[in-house]
Amino acid sequence: MSKITREFIERIPKTDLHLHLDGSLRLSTLIELAKQEKVELPSYTEEGLKELVFKEKYKDLPDYLQGFGLTCSVLKNAENLERVAYELAMDNIAENVIYIEARFAPQQHFVNGKFSVQDSVRAVNKGLKRAQDERNNSEAVKSGKELPFHYGIINCAMRFCNRFFSDYYANLFDSLEATPARRVVGIASQELARITVKLAHDEGLPVVGFDLAGAEAGWPAIDHKKAYDIAHYNFIKKTVHAGEAFGAESIFQAITECHADRIGHGTHLFNVDKITDERILSGEHGDPESYIKRLVDYIACRRITLEVCPTSNLQTLPEIKSISEHPLKKMLENKLSVTICTDNRLVSRTTPTDELQRVVENIDIDNKTFKNIITAGFKGSFYPGTYLEKRTLVRQVMNRYEAIEKEFFG
Ligand SMILES: [Zn+2]
Repeated sequence: MSKITREFIERIPKTDLHLHLDGSLRLSTLIELAKQEKVELPSYTEEGLKELVFKEKYKDLPDYLQGFGLTCSVLKNAENLERVAYELAMDNIAENVIYIEARFAPQQHFVNGKFSVQDSVRAVNKGLKRAQDERNNSEAVKSGKELPFHYGIINCAMRFCNRFFSDYYANLFDSLEATPARRVVGIASQELARITVKLAHDEGLPVVGFDLAGAEAGWPAIDHKKAYDIAHYNFIKKTVHAGEAFGAESIFQAITECHADRIGHGTHLFNVDKITDERILSGEHGDPESYIKRLVDYIACRRITLEVCPTSNLQTLPEIKSISEHPLKKMLENKLSVTICTDNRLVSRTTPTDELQRVVENIDIDNKTFKNIITAGFKGSFYPGTYLEKRTLVRQVMNRYEAIEKEFFG
């Protein structure tokens, strides 16, 4: 078994690249904001909400996604979004997570005549920046005792939406009455991609990435190809939730059609039974096993980072009984670039420290592999600075990591 201890994990600099802002509120904040905004909750105590909504185990992905309706309902103005973004950064800083990419779906927070899509991103940035400034102006960082904190924002388009998601979607479905729903979600994503480009390039906000989130089944990434093209041609980095409900071909589609630089989850990468593409099943691209082998090698060679969220995967895919059964082990054996993330601190009831600890407790990995996982988080990040600045950060982190490693293991 690995010698890595919780104390070691707590001390080392870490990242969280797959982190949904609206799934990561402090429970006490959700209750406070719900009372303030007169949003009805099924319980007003932390224990009650943990029992009814933010559970340890979920039936499936739709059950898991239920809590987001509540969190999004209290995040319909700049003040509240800024607050939860600030708290999210502070909670990460407290456990030495020095780089995060907070993602959320700005169109979900739109309120007719009151709160625009752009304003929601500006509010999130304001909260994260406040935490960053506080941290980086502290004595601990200035003296070099602690490393500075940085962040990026990822805008999520929704794979699936209906008119009840927000005023934004209601307006869209009203205007595009004759358009099939799959087309409407594609149009919403294109608009978000254009907004993302404007915020990043015209306003200089650290909106570093574009993502596609929400229930996968029945809502393929290909419907969002145009949106990804817009992001791609404007040098916005891309990640796609893929291989969560569909099989390996959805991961290939994300990389080739949506230009994904990273993949969210990729859980079914090795699962032959999840392949449904007729061209693969009929043997047009070789037999399914060979297809997966070639795809895995392709992902490894391209250094496409997989954002693996172990607890969340176990919660949404109850057929995976424990982390030792999770494909993470196979991903590491194949030398894929893997970073461990929380997905949702509140909905999954976890933290980056918890996730890393669960990994070393359930999978027999050596210190070198563990270090690779930590490094992948920094190298695979969509860091908002230049490439040279990113390299400097990676070097800084490695030096710190090695010093702590020496202290613990000699
Ligand atoms: Zn996610």
